Amino acid sequence: MADVAVELVLRSTRVITPEGTRAASVAVADGKITAVLAHDAEVPAGARLEDFGDDVLLPGLVDTHVHVNDPGRTEWEGFWTATRAAAAGGITTILDMPLNSLPPTTTVDHLRTKQEVARAKAHVDVGFWGGALPDNVKDLRPLHDAGVYGFKCFLSPSGVEEFPELDQEQLATSLAEITGFGGLLIVHAEDPHHLDAAPVVPGPKYADFLASRPRDAENTAIGNLIAQARRLNARVHVLHLSSSDALPLIAAAKAEGVQITVESCPHYLTLTAEEVPDGASEFKCCPPIREAANQDLLWDALADGTIDCIVSDHSPSTADLKTSDFSTAWGGISSLQLGLPAIWTEARRRGRSLEDVVRWMSAAPAALAGLGQKGAIEAGRDADFAVLAPEETFTVDPAALHHRNQVTAYAGRTLHGVVKSTWLRGTQIADHGTPTEPTGLLLERQN
Ligand SMILES: [Zn+2]
Repeated sequence: MADVAVELVLRSTRVITPEGTRAASVAVADGKITAVLAHDAEVPAGARLEDFGDDVLLPGLVDTHVHVNDPGRTEWEGFWTATRAAAAGGITTILDMPLNSLPPTTTVDHLRTKQEVARAKAHVDVGFWGGALPDNVKDLRPLHDAGVYGFKCFLSPSGVEEFPELDQEQLATSLAEITGFGGLLIVHAEDPHHLDAAPVVPGPKYADFLASRPRDAENTAIGNLIAQARRLNARVHVLHLSSSDALPLIAAAKAEGVQITVESCPHYLTLTAEEVPDGASEFKCCPPIREAANQDLLWDALADGTIDCIVSDHSPSTADLKTSDFSTAWGGISSLQLGLPAIWTEARRRGRSLEDVVRWMSAAPAALAGLGQKGAIEAGRDADFAVLAPEETFTVDPAALHHRNQVTAYAGRTLHGVVKSTWLRGTQIADHGTPTEPTGLLLERQN
Protein backbone atom coordinates (compact mmCIF):
# COMPACT_ATOMS: atom_id res chain seq x y z
CA MET A 1 0.00 0.00 0.00
CA ALA A 2 2.84 2.38 0.84
CA ASP A 3 4.00 2.51 -2.78
CA VAL A 4 0.54 3.34 -4.15
CA ALA A 5 0.23 7.08 -4.83
CA VAL A 6 -2.47 8.92 -2.89
CA GLU A 7 -5.15 10.02 -5.37
CA LEU A 8 -7.66 11.69 -3.13
CA VAL A 9 -7.78 13.44 0.22
CA LEU A 10 -11.13 13.92 2.00
CA ARG A 11 -11.02 16.64 4.66
CA SER A 12 -13.49 17.61 7.36
CA THR A 13 -13.46 19.21 10.78
CA ARG A 14 -15.59 16.25 11.92
CA VAL A 15 -14.38 12.81 10.82
CA ILE A 16 -15.92 9.88 12.71
CA THR A 17 -13.21 7.30 13.35
CA PRO A 18 -13.27 4.26 15.66
CA GLU A 19 -11.39 6.39 18.22
CA GLY A 20 -13.90 9.24 18.08
CA THR A 21 -14.66 12.37 16.10
CA ARG A 22 -11.85 14.69 15.09
CA ALA A 23 -10.69 17.10 12.43
CA ALA A 24 -8.77 15.04 9.90
CA SER A 25 -7.72 14.46 6.32
CA VAL A 26 -8.33 10.97 4.97
CA ALA A 27 -5.92 9.78 2.28
CA VAL A 28 -7.22 7.40 -0.38
CA ALA A 29 -5.35 5.32 -2.94
CA ASP A 30 -6.66 2.59 -5.19
CA GLY A 31 -10.05 2.62 -3.48
CA LYS A 32 -8.65 2.12 0.01
CA ILE A 33 -8.02 4.40 2.96
CA THR A 34 -4.25 4.64 3.33
CA ALA A 35 -4.06 6.98 6.32
CA VAL A 36 -6.08 9.24 8.59
CA LEU A 37 -3.93 12.35 8.87
CA ALA A 38 -4.01 15.69 10.63
CA HIS A 39 -6.62 18.13 9.31
CA ASP A 40 -3.94 20.42 7.89
CA ALA A 41 -1.81 17.61 6.43
CA GLU A 42 -0.14 18.51 3.19
CA VAL A 43 -1.97 17.15 0.15
CA PRO A 44 0.43 14.93 -1.82
CA ALA A 45 1.39 16.07 -5.30
CA GLY A 46 -1.11 14.81 -7.85
CA ALA A 47 -3.85 14.13 -5.29
CA ARG A 48 -7.23 15.84 -5.39
CA LEU A 49 -8.54 17.52 -2.25
CA GLU A 50 -12.22 17.41 -1.29
CA ASP A 51 -12.79 19.70 1.67
CA PHE A 52 -16.20 19.23 3.29
CA GLY A 53 -15.75 21.99 5.83
CA ASP A 54 -17.85 21.23 8.92
CA ASP A 55 -19.99 18.55 7.28
CA VAL A 56 -19.38 15.20 8.96
CA LEU A 57 -17.39 12.49 7.18
CA LEU A 58 -18.59 9.10 8.34
CA PRO A 59 -18.02 5.56 7.10
CA GLY A 60 -20.51 4.47 4.45
CA LEU A 61 -23.42 2.66 6.05
CA VAL A 62 -23.79 -1.10 5.77
CA ASP A 63 -27.37 -2.31 5.42
CA THR A 64 -27.51 -6.06 5.87
CA HIS A 65 -31.29 -6.35 5.50
CA VAL A 66 -32.62 -5.35 2.09
CA HIS A 67 -35.23 -7.12 -0.05
CA VAL A 68 -34.31 -6.25 -3.63
CA ASN A 69 -36.76 -8.75 -5.24
CA ASP A 70 -34.78 -8.91 -8.49
CA PRO A 71 -35.33 -10.91 -10.64
CA GLY A 72 -38.94 -11.99 -10.36
CA ARG A 73 -40.76 -9.23 -8.51
CA THR A 74 -39.00 -6.29 -10.08
CA GLU A 75 -42.22 -4.29 -10.10
CA TRP A 76 -41.70 -4.17 -6.31
CA GLU A 77 -38.00 -3.25 -6.39
CA GLY A 78 -34.84 -3.97 -8.35
CA PHE A 79 -31.08 -3.71 -8.09
CA TRP A 80 -30.96 -0.50 -10.13
CA THR A 81 -33.52 1.35 -8.03
CA ALA A 82 -32.63 -0.12 -4.64
CA THR A 83 -28.92 0.60 -4.96
CA ARG A 84 -29.60 4.13 -6.22
CA ALA A 85 -31.76 4.72 -3.15
CA ALA A 86 -29.01 3.29 -0.97
CA ALA A 87 -26.36 5.53 -2.52
CA ALA A 88 -28.56 8.60 -2.09
CA GLY A 89 -29.07 7.67 1.57
CA GLY A 90 -25.39 7.29 2.50
CA ILE A 91 -25.32 3.47 2.31
CA THR A 92 -22.37 1.93 0.45
CA THR A 93 -23.00 -1.79 1.04
CA ILE A 94 -26.21 -3.81 1.07
CA LEU A 95 -26.83 -7.49 1.65
CA ASP A 96 -29.81 -8.80 -0.26
CA MET A 97 -32.34 -11.04 1.45
CA PRO A 98 -32.94 -14.44 -0.17
CA LEU A 99 -36.69 -14.09 -0.58
CA ASN A 100 -39.24 -12.18 -2.61
CA SER A 101 -37.07 -12.53 -5.70
CA LEU A 102 -37.82 -15.37 -8.12
CA PRO A 103 -35.87 -17.53 -7.79
CA PRO A 104 -35.14 -17.21 -4.08
CA THR A 105 -31.45 -17.54 -3.13
CA THR A 106 -31.69 -21.14 -2.00
CA THR A 107 -29.27 -22.92 -4.37
CA VAL A 108 -25.94 -21.97 -5.92
CA ASP A 109 -27.62 -21.79 -9.35
CA HIS A 110 -30.14 -19.33 -7.99
CA LEU A 111 -27.36 -17.27 -6.40
CA ARG A 112 -25.55 -17.09 -9.75
CA THR A 113 -28.78 -16.01 -11.46
CA LYS A 114 -29.20 -13.19 -8.98
CA GLN A 115 -25.55 -12.11 -9.24
CA GLU A 116 -25.86 -11.91 -13.03
CA VAL A 117 -28.90 -9.69 -12.72
CA ALA A 118 -27.27 -7.45 -10.11
CA ARG A 119 -23.88 -7.07 -11.74
CA ALA A 120 -24.47 -4.14 -14.08
CA LYS A 121 -27.03 -2.43 -11.88
CA ALA A 122 -25.19 -2.09 -8.57
CA HIS A 123 -24.58 1.51 -7.48
CA VAL A 124 -23.30 0.23 -4.13
CA ASP A 125 -21.54 -2.98 -3.18
CA VAL A 126 -23.95 -5.91 -3.01
CA GLY A 127 -23.65 -9.20 -1.17
CA PHE A 128 -26.18 -11.98 -0.67
CA TRP A 129 -27.75 -14.00 2.11
CA GLY A 130 -28.81 -17.54 1.33
CA GLY A 131 -32.10 -19.08 2.38
CA ALA A 132 -32.65 -22.09 4.65
CA LEU A 133 -35.79 -24.00 3.64
CA PRO A 134 -37.19 -27.31 4.88
CA ASP A 135 -35.88 -29.11 1.77
CA ASN A 136 -32.53 -27.47 0.96
CA VAL A 137 -30.21 -28.65 3.73
CA LYS A 138 -27.94 -30.18 1.08
CA ASP A 139 -27.59 -26.77 -0.60
CA LEU A 140 -26.41 -24.88 2.47
CA ARG A 141 -22.74 -25.80 2.40
CA PRO A 142 -22.41 -25.21 -1.37
CA LEU A 143 -24.04 -21.80 -0.91
CA HIS A 144 -21.65 -21.03 1.94
CA ASP A 145 -18.70 -22.03 -0.24
CA ALA A 146 -20.12 -19.89 -3.06
CA GLY A 147 -19.91 -16.79 -0.86
CA VAL A 148 -23.24 -16.07 0.83
CA TYR A 149 -22.88 -14.31 4.18
CA GLY A 150 -25.19 -16.63 6.08
CA PHE A 151 -28.67 -18.08 5.90
CA LYS A 152 -32.09 -16.67 6.58
CA CYS A 153 -35.01 -18.71 7.81
CA PHE A 154 -38.55 -18.07 8.94
CA LEU A 155 -40.28 -19.81 11.82
CA SER A 156 -43.74 -18.66 10.68
CA PRO A 157 -45.12 -18.15 7.14
CA SER A 158 -42.95 -15.77 5.15
CA GLY A 159 -45.67 -14.21 3.04
CA VAL A 160 -44.50 -15.89 -0.19
CA GLU A 161 -45.19 -19.56 -0.86
CA GLU A 162 -41.82 -20.36 -2.46
CA PHE A 163 -40.07 -19.61 0.85
CA PRO A 164 -41.66 -21.90 3.49
CA GLU A 165 -40.81 -21.69 7.18
CA LEU A 166 -38.90 -24.20 9.31
CA ASP A 167 -40.51 -26.03 12.21
CA GLN A 168 -38.43 -26.60 15.36
CA GLU A 169 -37.10 -29.94 14.14
CA GLN A 170 -36.13 -28.50 10.75
CA LEU A 171 -34.57 -25.51 12.49
CA ALA A 172 -32.41 -27.90 14.54
CA THR A 173 -31.34 -29.78 11.40
CA SER A 174 -30.45 -26.65 9.42
CA LEU A 175 -28.74 -25.01 12.36
CA ALA A 176 -26.61 -28.10 13.00
CA GLU A 177 -25.60 -28.20 9.33
CA ILE A 178 -24.74 -24.47 9.27
CA THR A 179 -22.82 -24.69 12.53
CA GLY A 180 -20.85 -27.60 11.07
CA PHE A 181 -19.21 -25.27 8.57
CA GLY A 182 -19.01 -22.23 10.85
CA GLY A 183 -21.91 -20.34 9.28
CA LEU A 184 -24.48 -17.90 10.60
CA LEU A 185 -28.26 -18.33 10.76
CA ILE A 186 -30.39 -15.19 10.72
CA VAL A 187 -33.95 -15.66 11.85
CA HIS A 188 -37.36 -14.09 11.41
CA ALA A 189 -38.46 -14.94 14.91
CA GLU A 190 -42.23 -15.10 15.36
CA ASP A 191 -43.76 -18.30 16.72
CA PRO A 192 -46.48 -19.70 14.44
CA HIS A 193 -48.59 -21.14 17.25
CA HIS A 194 -48.90 -17.78 18.98
CA LEU A 195 -49.78 -16.17 15.66
CA ASP A 196 -52.42 -18.85 14.98
CA ALA A 197 -53.93 -18.25 18.39
CA ALA A 198 -54.13 -14.49 17.98
CA PRO A 199 -57.36 -12.88 16.75
CA VAL A 200 -57.43 -11.73 13.13
CA VAL A 201 -59.89 -8.90 12.61
CA PRO A 202 -59.94 -7.66 9.01
CA GLY A 203 -60.18 -3.94 8.42
CA PRO A 204 -58.38 -0.63 8.64
CA LYS A 205 -57.73 -0.43 12.42
CA TYR A 206 -54.07 -0.62 13.37
CA ALA A 207 -54.94 -1.86 16.88
CA ASP A 208 -56.55 -4.95 15.35
CA PHE A 209 -53.45 -5.68 13.29
CA LEU A 210 -51.19 -5.16 16.30
CA ALA A 211 -53.27 -7.65 18.32
CA SER A 212 -52.82 -10.21 15.54
CA ARG A 213 -48.99 -10.12 15.92
CA PRO A 214 -48.54 -10.32 19.71
CA ARG A 215 -45.27 -9.83 21.53
CA ASP A 216 -45.52 -13.40 22.81
CA ALA A 217 -44.97 -14.66 19.28
CA GLU A 218 -41.59 -12.93 19.19
CA ASN A 219 -40.68 -13.74 22.79
CA THR A 220 -41.40 -17.46 22.39
CA ALA A 221 -39.60 -17.78 19.06
CA ILE A 222 -36.55 -15.99 20.46
CA GLY A 223 -36.58 -18.17 23.56
CA ASN A 224 -36.65 -21.30 21.41
CA LEU A 225 -33.88 -19.96 19.20
CA ILE A 226 -31.68 -19.22 22.20
CA ALA A 227 -32.23 -22.77 23.46
CA GLN A 228 -31.20 -24.23 20.08
CA ALA A 229 -28.17 -21.93 19.78
CA ARG A 230 -27.06 -22.87 23.30
CA ARG A 231 -27.47 -26.60 22.65
CA LEU A 232 -25.52 -26.52 19.37
CA ASN A 233 -23.10 -23.73 20.28
CA ALA A 234 -24.40 -22.13 17.09
CA ARG A 235 -24.18 -18.55 15.88
CA VAL A 236 -27.60 -16.95 15.40
CA HIS A 237 -28.94 -13.48 14.67
CA VAL A 238 -32.40 -12.15 15.45
CA LEU A 239 -33.81 -10.10 12.59
CA HIS A 240 -35.96 -7.00 13.08
CA LEU A 241 -36.61 -7.18 16.81
CA SER A 242 -39.75 -5.31 17.82
CA SER A 243 -40.87 -6.80 21.17
CA SER A 244 -39.02 -5.20 24.08
CA ASP A 245 -40.27 -8.07 26.27
CA ALA A 246 -37.64 -10.30 24.64
CA LEU A 247 -34.76 -8.04 25.71
CA PRO A 248 -34.15 -9.64 29.15
CA LEU A 249 -33.99 -13.08 27.50
CA ILE A 250 -31.47 -11.83 24.96
CA ALA A 251 -29.37 -9.98 27.52
CA ALA A 252 -29.22 -13.08 29.71
CA ALA A 253 -28.25 -15.28 26.76
CA LYS A 254 -25.47 -12.88 25.78
CA ALA A 255 -24.19 -12.73 29.36
CA GLU A 256 -24.15 -16.52 29.43
CA GLY A 257 -22.06 -16.66 26.24
CA VAL A 258 -24.71 -17.76 23.74
CA GLN A 259 -23.59 -16.53 20.29
CA ILE A 260 -26.56 -14.32 19.53
CA THR A 261 -26.76 -10.89 17.92
CA VAL A 262 -29.81 -8.72 17.34
CA GLU A 263 -30.94 -6.02 14.97
CA SER A 264 -33.80 -3.57 15.03
CA CYS A 265 -35.01 -1.22 12.31
CA PRO A 266 -35.75 2.48 11.83
CA HIS A 267 -39.52 1.96 11.88
CA TYR A 268 -39.51 0.28 15.32
CA LEU A 269 -37.23 3.01 16.65
CA THR A 270 -38.86 6.10 15.16
CA LEU A 271 -42.56 5.31 14.58
CA THR A 272 -45.15 4.24 17.16
CA ALA A 273 -48.40 2.27 17.09
CA GLU A 274 -50.22 5.19 18.67
CA GLU A 275 -49.60 7.42 15.65
CA VAL A 276 -50.46 5.01 12.81
CA PRO A 277 -53.60 6.32 11.09
CA ASP A 278 -56.39 3.87 10.32
CA GLY A 279 -55.94 2.29 6.92
CA ALA A 280 -52.32 3.48 6.59
CA SER A 281 -50.78 0.15 5.62
CA GLU A 282 -47.53 1.81 4.57
CA PHE A 283 -46.90 1.32 8.32
CA LYS A 284 -47.56 -2.44 8.16
CA CYS A 285 -44.69 -4.85 8.71
CA CYS A 286 -44.14 -8.08 10.63
CA PRO A 287 -43.39 -8.05 13.47
CA PRO A 288 -45.35 -4.83 13.85
CA ILE A 289 -44.46 -1.34 15.01
CA ARG A 290 -45.40 -1.34 18.70
CA GLU A 291 -46.22 1.23 21.38
CA ALA A 292 -44.08 4.23 22.39
CA ALA A 293 -43.20 2.64 25.75
CA ASN A 294 -41.89 -0.42 23.90
CA GLN A 295 -39.80 1.84 21.69
CA ASP A 296 -38.16 3.52 24.71
CA LEU A 297 -36.93 0.10 25.87
CA LEU A 298 -35.51 -0.70 22.42
CA TRP A 299 -33.44 2.49 22.62
CA ASP A 300 -32.22 1.51 26.08
CA ALA A 301 -31.19 -1.86 24.62
CA LEU A 302 -29.23 -0.15 21.84
CA ALA A 303 -27.43 1.91 24.46
CA ASP A 304 -26.46 -1.10 26.58
CA GLY A 305 -25.56 -3.34 23.61
CA THR A 306 -28.40 -5.86 23.90
CA ILE A 307 -29.38 -4.74 20.39
CA ASP A 308 -26.30 -4.67 18.16
CA CYS A 309 -27.32 -2.95 14.97
CA ILE A 310 -29.93 -1.01 13.01
CA VAL A 311 -30.72 -2.02 9.43
CA SER A 312 -33.59 -1.11 7.16
CA ASP A 313 -35.56 -4.29 6.41
CA HIS A 314 -36.45 -2.38 3.25
CA SER A 315 -39.27 -4.54 1.89
CA PRO A 316 -41.32 -2.76 -0.72
CA SER A 317 -44.23 -3.78 -2.88
CA THR A 318 -46.33 -2.04 -5.48
CA ALA A 319 -48.75 0.57 -4.15
CA ASP A 320 -51.81 -1.51 -5.04
CA LEU A 321 -50.79 -4.20 -2.51
CA LYS A 322 -50.76 -1.58 0.24
CA THR A 323 -54.54 -1.66 0.68
CA SER A 324 -56.35 -0.11 3.62
CA ASP A 325 -57.12 -3.55 5.14
CA PHE A 326 -54.26 -4.30 7.52
CA SER A 327 -55.04 -8.03 7.56
CA THR A 328 -54.39 -8.50 3.83
CA ALA A 329 -52.12 -5.58 2.82
CA TRP A 330 -48.51 -6.46 1.96
CA GLY A 331 -46.31 -6.23 5.05
CA GLY A 332 -43.10 -4.33 4.51
CA ILE A 333 -41.74 -0.83 5.03
CA SER A 334 -39.52 1.02 2.57
CA SER A 335 -36.81 3.12 4.17
CA LEU A 336 -33.56 2.39 2.37
CA GLN A 337 -32.95 6.04 1.47
CA LEU A 338 -34.22 7.44 4.78
CA GLY A 339 -32.78 5.22 7.50
CA LEU A 340 -29.87 7.47 8.41
CA PRO A 341 -31.81 10.71 8.85
CA ALA A 342 -34.74 8.90 10.50
CA ILE A 343 -32.48 7.28 13.09
CA TRP A 344 -30.31 10.36 13.56
CA THR A 345 -33.39 12.52 14.17
CA GLU A 346 -34.58 10.22 16.95
CA ALA A 347 -31.09 9.56 18.32
CA ARG A 348 -30.30 13.25 18.79
CA ARG A 349 -33.69 13.81 20.45
CA ARG A 350 -32.74 11.06 22.90
CA GLY A 351 -29.28 12.48 23.55
CA ARG A 352 -27.39 9.88 21.56
CA SER A 353 -24.42 10.83 19.39
CA LEU A 354 -23.71 10.48 15.71
CA GLU A 355 -20.87 8.16 16.76
CA ASP A 356 -23.52 5.86 18.26
CA VAL A 357 -25.47 5.95 15.01
CA VAL A 358 -22.34 5.06 13.03
CA ARG A 359 -21.65 2.16 15.38
CA TRP A 360 -25.21 0.82 14.99
CA MET A 361 -25.56 1.39 11.24
CA SER A 362 -22.06 0.83 9.88
CA ALA A 363 -19.56 -0.85 12.22
CA ALA A 364 -21.94 -3.38 13.80
CA PRO A 365 -23.66 -4.60 10.62
CA ALA A 366 -20.25 -4.90 8.93
CA ALA A 367 -19.08 -7.01 11.86
CA LEU A 368 -22.25 -9.12 11.77
CA ALA A 369 -21.59 -10.12 8.17
CA GLY A 370 -17.82 -10.38 8.53
CA LEU A 371 -17.27 -7.48 6.12
CA GLY A 372 -13.82 -6.64 7.46
CA GLN A 373 -13.13 -4.11 4.71
CA LYS A 374 -16.23 -2.04 5.59
CA GLY A 375 -17.62 -0.18 8.57
CA ALA A 376 -14.87 2.20 9.71
CA ILE A 377 -12.68 5.09 8.65
CA GLU A 378 -9.22 3.67 9.24
CA ALA A 379 -6.22 2.69 7.17
CA GLY A 380 -6.70 -0.47 5.15
CA ARG A 381 -10.49 -0.29 4.84
CA ASP A 382 -12.41 0.52 1.69
CA ALA A 383 -12.73 4.24 1.04
CA ASP A 384 -16.51 4.24 1.58
CA PHE A 385 -18.00 7.40 3.05
CA ALA A 386 -21.11 9.42 3.60
CA VAL A 387 -20.92 13.18 4.02
CA LEU A 388 -23.67 14.36 6.34
CA ALA A 389 -24.91 17.77 7.41
CA PRO A 390 -26.38 16.63 10.75
CA GLU A 391 -27.86 19.99 11.75
CA GLU A 392 -29.72 20.54 8.47
CA THR A 393 -33.32 19.38 8.09
CA PHE A 394 -35.52 18.34 5.20
CA THR A 395 -39.11 17.24 4.77
CA VAL A 396 -39.60 13.79 3.25
CA ASP A 397 -41.04 14.09 -0.24
CA PRO A 398 -41.86 10.65 -1.66
CA ALA A 399 -41.13 11.98 -5.16
CA ALA A 400 -37.47 12.43 -4.14
CA LEU A 401 -37.05 8.74 -3.31
CA HIS A 402 -35.23 6.48 -5.75
CA HIS A 403 -37.05 3.33 -4.56
CA ARG A 404 -39.08 1.83 -7.39
CA ASN A 405 -42.28 2.43 -5.42
CA GLN A 406 -42.42 5.68 -3.56
CA VAL A 407 -44.72 4.43 -0.83
CA THR A 408 -43.28 5.49 2.52
CA ALA A 409 -44.35 5.70 6.13
CA TYR A 410 -42.10 8.76 6.48
CA ALA A 411 -43.90 11.02 3.99
CA GLY A 412 -44.17 14.59 5.24
CA ARG A 413 -41.87 14.09 8.22
CA THR A 414 -39.17 16.65 8.88
CA LEU A 415 -35.88 14.91 9.56
CA HIS A 416 -32.46 16.01 10.70
CA GLY A 417 -29.43 15.02 8.64
CA VAL A 418 -28.94 15.76 4.97
CA VAL A 419 -26.68 13.37 3.05
CA LYS A 420 -24.55 15.67 0.89
CA SER A 421 -22.58 12.98 -0.91
CA THR A 422 -21.69 9.31 -0.82
CA TRP A 423 -18.39 7.68 -1.82
CA LEU A 424 -17.65 4.08 -2.73
CA ARG A 425 -14.01 2.96 -2.88
CA GLY A 426 -12.95 6.54 -3.49
CA THR A 427 -15.51 7.33 -6.20
CA GLN A 428 -18.42 9.65 -5.60
CA ILE A 429 -21.65 7.69 -6.14
CA ALA A 430 -24.24 10.27 -5.06
CA ASP A 431 -24.32 14.04 -5.03
CA HIS A 432 -27.05 15.80 -3.00
CA GLY A 433 -29.43 12.88 -3.37
CA THR A 434 -28.68 12.19 -7.01
CA PRO A 435 -26.91 8.89 -7.72
CA THR A 436 -24.21 8.78 -10.38
CA GLU A 437 -22.90 5.76 -12.28
CA PRO A 438 -23.18 2.13 -11.09
CA THR A 439 -19.72 1.28 -9.77
CA GLY A 440 -20.73 -1.25 -7.12
CA LEU A 441 -19.12 -4.66 -6.88
CA LEU A 442 -20.68 -7.99 -6.04
CA LEU A 443 -19.25 -9.14 -2.73
CA GLU A 444 -18.68 -12.70 -1.63
CA ARG A 445 -17.89 -13.84 1.88
CA GLN A 446 -14.17 -14.38 2.40
CA ASN A 447 -13.01 -17.29 4.50
ZN1 LIG B 1 -36.97 -8.64 5.92
